[in-house]
Amino acid sequence: MRIERIEHIGIAVSNLDEAIRFYEKVLNLTCYAIEAVADQKVRTAFFKVGETKIELLESTDPEGPIGKFIEKKGEGIHHIAFAVDNIEQALAETESKGVKLIDQTPRNGAEGLRIGFLHPKNTMGVLTEFCSGK
Ligand code: ZN
Repeated sequence: MRIERIEHIGIAVSNLDEAIRFYEKVLNLTCYAIEAVADQKVRTAFFKVGETKIELLESTDPEGPIGKFIEKKGEGIHHIAFAVDNIEQALAETESKGVKLIDQTPRNGAEGLRIGFLHPKNTMGVLTEFCSGK
């Protein structure tokens, strides 16, 4: 497995439109995409910061993963995503090193990426995502 870069940082927000205003008006970043990911019950907004992106996540369902996260912990950093060269191999290699996975096989994420999450119990509380373009 080779990690190429931090692909994005996922931030859970209660109100996507307000959060977009903050990133645009205060931080002078540009929202270049808004996308719903039905699978994860979220609406997402993306900003580029160099090679890395900020992914804002608003829940579309209180029972979805982001809805539950905000209820438990409030708004804030939700996960960190690493771009890997081969996602199947990265997940398998990580599992073989004794790390529990949330996703045994990759699923579809925003921006056409294939994504898989590691279990935060084995990653010092940081929900960790691998993603890959193919
Ligand atoms: Zn993500």
